[in-house]
Amino acid sequence: MNTCAPLGRDHRKFRVESVHFGMIGQALIDSLRAFAGERWSPAYEQAWQDAYRVIARKMLTAAQEDTNPPFWHAEIVSHERRARDIAVFTCRTMQPLPYRAGQYVSIESDRQPRVWRVYSMANSPRPDNTMDFHIRAVGAGWLSGALVRRAEVGDMIRIAAPMGSMTVDPASTRDIVCVAGGTGLAPIKAIIDEIGQTNRTRWVHLFFGARDREDLYDLDDLMQLTTRYPWLTVTPVTSEDPTYPGERGNVSDCDGRLRTMERPRRVRLRIARHGPGDAAAAVRDPGPINPYQVRRLRRPVIKPLTKPVTEPMTIAMTEPLTEPCSHPVTSESGERCDR
Ligand SMILES: Cc1cc2nc3c(=O)[nH]c(=O)nc-3n(C[C@H](O)[C@H](O)[C@H](O)COP(=O)(O)OP(=O)(O)OC[C@H]3O[C@@H](n4cnc5c(N)ncnc54)[C@H](O)[C@@H]3O)c2cc1C
Repeated sequence: MNTCAPLGRDHRKFRVESVHFGMIGQALIDSLRAFAGERWSPAYEQAWQDAYRVIARKMLTAAQEDTNPPFWHAEIVSHERRARDIAVFTCRTMQPLPYRAGQYVSIESDRQPRVWRVYSMANSPRPDNTMDFHIRAVGAGWLSGALVRRAEVGDMIRIAAPMGSMTVDPASTRDIVCVAGGTGLAPIKAIIDEIGQTNRTRWVHLFFGARDREDLYDLDDLMQLTTRYPWLTVTPVTSEDPTYPGERGNVSDCDGRLRTMERPRRVRLRIARHGPGDAAAAVRDPGPINPYQVRRLRRPVIKPLTKPVTEPMTIAMTEPLTEPCSHPVTSESGERCDR
């Protein structure tokens, strides 16, 4: 039910009106009845109608109460091909678009009208209303290919309201381990950008994975960030580049790497698996980092976990898949978000 309100607000970009809800509801229930055949009953009919009515009312109310525009107009102000199938572009919205680092928006372009797809902002909000996006073109995909190969400086795009809850609590003192695969880096970079405005004490480590060295499309920028922020370290990892001189393997296998990394002596990390596959490692520390110790210390001091971690803090973002429900994401609150 918590997703109904954002969904209703978001549907305004399709110019959905109250009359459409009735038609869609009717079509949905007709289809269910047709496919259920003899198993359908008046009780089912009533239950579906009731449930749909509640959902539609929530969506409509949220849409009607929202004072924001259904979408924002933005102009692409820079566009750079960074790899075979990856582009990074910056656009400027005509009006301020409030959002939190780690969130995503849906985008429509005149290069592929009426096709909306979601992409994560790669920066925290800026006073000049510019936003960065990292796009990978997928196979016969409709919009990503157009944004990577055909979009140009001067193009106008439309951006719908931000969504997503993978944001960081600025009041927390816990360290952060981020795991990003491919353009899954975008929201992680936004979060690092946001933390960078205030952080002096939280140690942040980013594992950035790609198939090969060319796909490490943002490494130069990330390395510049590590020189600006003493609390940030970045480990690039490739999975299909046998001659790559750095880390090789699956980026999500990061707890083994954490054990061998150079880190400040005062930091005691507890490491635990929390979640299947790519869900990666959860870490927490008992105290703040002294950033001035980072460069002097050589040996890692990491205590293996002896009891379960109750409040994991991991941000894991793998390459966005082409279908919904792909990312293992755990937010600061521990909430798991399967998009
Ligand atoms: C929360 C979230 C955040 C995201 N953030 C990013 C991001 O920051 N950067 C990014 O690059 N992506 C991101 N994505 C993924 C993005 O939303 C799109 O899914 C992706 O760009 C593909 O969109 P598309 O229109 O190009 O492909 P679609 O048209 O949606 O196609 C999807 C797949 O279906 C196949 N296909 C399409 N049409 C046909 C057909 N006729 N026959 C056979 N196969 C077909 C395509 O080859 C493709 O593999 C995110 C996704 C989510 C859910």
